[in-house]
Amino acid sequence: MNNDLKRLISLHDLDVMISDLQNKDIRKQEKKLGLSPAAAVVELKKMRGELALLITRRNRNMYDQLASHYGNAVVPVIHERCSGCFTQLPTAFVASPDRNKQVETCPACGRFIYWCD
Ligand SMILES: [Zn+2]
Repeated sequence: MNNDLKRLISLHDLDVMISDLQNKDIRKQEKKLGLSPAAAVVELKKMRGELALLITRRNRNMYDQLASHYGNAVVPVIHERCSGCFTQLPTAFVASPDRNKQVETCPACGRFIYWCD
């Protein structure tokens, strides 16, 4: 898989973790983490910052724009559909042997997409 794509997926995972920690039941989280949720958020944000620096500037800017617009900037393709907007992707696109070898975006919504299979 393309390195930038891998990093974008990880960036999304970190954002989900950070958002979860900021929204969920704090006492439950503390039990699971072994440290305070606030301390975990600080650590995760540090990791996010380090990871973001490894992503090309263009993709990082796109990610930030998409994340603030949609919430989720990187989504899997499931049954040939973008799982962000549910648009059926063009056949040529789906059949491409280069899936996941380069960073692709959904032609309808612009989110970063990747294939799990
Ligand atoms: Zn889409």
